[in-house]
Amino acid sequence: MLVSEHDYQRTLEYSFAALGMLKRAKIPPYPHFYELCYTYASGINEQLNERLNMLLGEDNTLSMENVLQVYREFFDNPSDLESRLTSVSQEMSSKIDAVNRAMDDAIDTAEGYSGSLDKAEQQLLGAVDQEALRILAKQLLHETQKMQEANKNLEEKLKVSKQDISSLKRDLDTARRETMLDPLTKIANRKSFDQRLKQVLELSKKTGTTFCLLMMDIDHFKAFNDNYGHQTGDQVLRLVAMTVKSNLKGRDHASRFGGEEFAAILPDTDIRGARTIAEKIRKAVHAKELLKRSTNEKLGRITVSIGAAQFRHEESIHELIDRADGCLYTAKRCGRNRVICETDEEFRKPKVA
Ligand code: GH3
Ligand code: MG
Ligand code: MG
Repeated sequence: MLVSEHDYQRTLEYSFAALGMLKRAKIPPYPHFYELCYTYASGINEQLNERLNMLLGEDNTLSMENVLQVYREFFDNPSDLESRLTSVSQEMSSKIDAVNRAMDDAIDTAEGYSGSLDKAEQQLLGAVDQEALRILAKQLLHETQKMQEANKNLEEKLKVSKQDISSLKRDLDTARRETMLDPLTKIANRKSFDQRLKQVLELSKKTGTTFCLLMMDIDHFKAFNDNYGHQTGDQVLRLVAMTVKSNLKGRDHASRFGGEEFAAILPDTDIRGARTIAEKIRKAVHAKELLKRSTNEKLGRITVSIGAAQFRHEESIHELIDRADGCLYTAKRCGRNRVICETDEEFRKPKVA
């Protein structure tokens, strides 16, 4: 395991909080339940926390049923997304078919009933004796009962379908959320970044506000992987992702842009604010001394280079990303482990070698 002393203490606290949650709810700390509560305590997955907060009772505890349900939603088989989406949509369409059939039945019965009423009206216009009236009333009563039954059947089907459809909708929402998460680091993925950047850019144009984009890249990560192995490299990616995320707040959006690159969208932030945030992230990553806990082997520190650009109202998304990337490249060229903003001399007037 690869953690700094500070992270070790923090994860220990998450662990105690998770066990406390399970203990209060009298739920055995099986690994999957523990994983769920630990994730909750760490706060890394906002949607999961929102969902659990909704289910927490007044006494701040969860029922076993709720925990199982949320676990299934968020952790069960997350890789099998496509087959889950297919099965949800198949179930959805079979429910819709069943409701359609019940509605067709009810419409047929209503049409038949309306025909019977017309017929009865015609008969009543002529001379009718008491016996004919009795037969007519009996027929109408029978038709009315048939109609009532069809309506009741439809009502019941609709009630069941409403519940099924709500639960299917939840499944669909969960699956959709997963398509927006990076499976390794559990922060937003590139797809989510693209969507959010587009939204923020459009809103910014509409409201005349500004925003900034940070592009971050781990320094000499290839060498780290070569020295300590890909799995340790993956742990570093998780650690950096968590560090980026925990240094952002509110409407800021952190994502894994690809490989060992991360991005942050900072709404309502100018380039000075962006520099402050970028410096905070840079220092927080640098502050972590990496230790392989199993062997106590010191793995040194990792650093990140960060480029920051502020949106200009007339430009396209690509121009903004290119400029932030250009700043990141300048940060690398200037020696890495640094933040370069588009307003910095080094970026505006690059020295010719
Ligand atoms: P620089 O400071 O210039 O950014 O150097 P670098 O070595 O970080 O850059 P380079 O682009 O040469 O290498 C990026 C490395 O990131 C290559 C690859 O081994 C590593 N990497 C990318 N994605 C993953 C991943 O998912 N897991 C792990 N462990 N490593 C990854
Ligand atoms: Mg890179
Ligand atoms: Mg790199």
